[in-house]
Amino acid sequence: MSEDIYAKPDLTKKVRFQAASKEDGNKDACEDVDDARIYDNYWAEESPPQDQSQDQSQDKSKDKSQDKSQDNTTEDQQKTASVNVSSGKKTRPGAAALFLGLLCLLFLVAVIVLVVVFILEKNRLSGDNANLISERNELQTSYIKIKSLNVNLTSERNELQTSNKEMKSLNVNLTSERDELQTSNSHMKSLNADLTKKTSQLEIEKGRLNATNKNLTKERDEFKRLAEKPSCSCPWITFGSSCYLVVTSRKNWRDSRTFCQGKASDLAIISSLQEQTFISSLNQDYWIGLTDEESEGEWKWVDRTVPTEKYWRKDGQPDNYGSQGEDCAEISDIDGTYTWNDLPCSSSVMFICEKMR
Ligand code: CA
Ligand code: CA
Repeated sequence: MSEDIYAKPDLTKKVRFQAASKEDGNKDACEDVDDARIYDNYWAEESPPQDQSQDQSQDKSKDKSQDKSQDNTTEDQQKTASVNVSSGKKTRPGAAALFLGLLCLLFLVAVIVLVVVFILEKNRLSGDNANLISERNELQTSYIKIKSLNVNLTSERNELQTSNKEMKSLNVNLTSERDELQTSNSHMKSLNADLTKKTSQLEIEKGRLNATNKNLTKERDEFKRLAEKPSCSCPWITFGSSCYLVVTSRKNWRDSRTFCQGKASDLAIISSLQEQTFISSLNQDYWIGLTDEESEGEWKWVDRTVPTEKYWRKDGQPDNYGSQGEDCAEISDIDGTYTWNDLPCSSSVMFICEKMR
């Protein structure tokens, strides 16, 4: 039923716009949309229903009363048609209003979204700003610390540079001293080597002097002892600590020794250069108490000691010459010097006896 009312308006009826002001007939029709009224063709050509004559009203009252129900129905239909026509004309402005409302709504939503975005962005920027401020403060603090540290490091660098200069100077001095010490050390080493060599030589000389001193001491003591003893009785010759008897008769070596032993002595034993010199000074050939009868080449004195000092003749003696050999020693000369020579023990030779004082 509503579709019949709103969808199908009665297009046979005339529509008139009641202007709010007849003088302002050119006023924009859009402003009088609300004042539009719809009348049927009759009412629009004659007069409004309020102006009908009384007679007609009375005459027609019956008709009206008779047709009241019909008229009412018709009026309702007319009003309904008027409303429908008005609704049909209001569709475009309503759509525009709806469109504007939607635009406003969209605009509002956009504004709200923008505000929300702005707030969020503002909050984010505020947070970023706070972080940046915090970072700036930290950087300032770090900058102050670094600046202070830089000052300290600069001071330490200057001190180190000063120390480095001092160390370089000291190093130069130490290098110079080291070189001098190395030179001195080389000189000292050379001097030490010389001193070591001289010390060795002095040690050898000391040993020799000690030995000499020992001998001199011994000789001194011997001379002192001999000085206290009486000289040898004649014909014995006194020399050192011994008495010597020169026998000019010639005998073989064994008989000579027997003779000496009969005089409480024995054939002479030469035990030092002084004694060798003394006997040599007698200028004769004499038997001495030296023999290798027991073992050829092993010469021994009559007291069975081995000679410590030997004065053999330089012509190759002892040579044990001859078929019977030579096992007894004499002192004889060669070129005016009396030294030792081996002879056959049976040879006849003068001899020298020796005994202690
Ligand atoms: Ca011999
Ligand atoms: Ca000989």
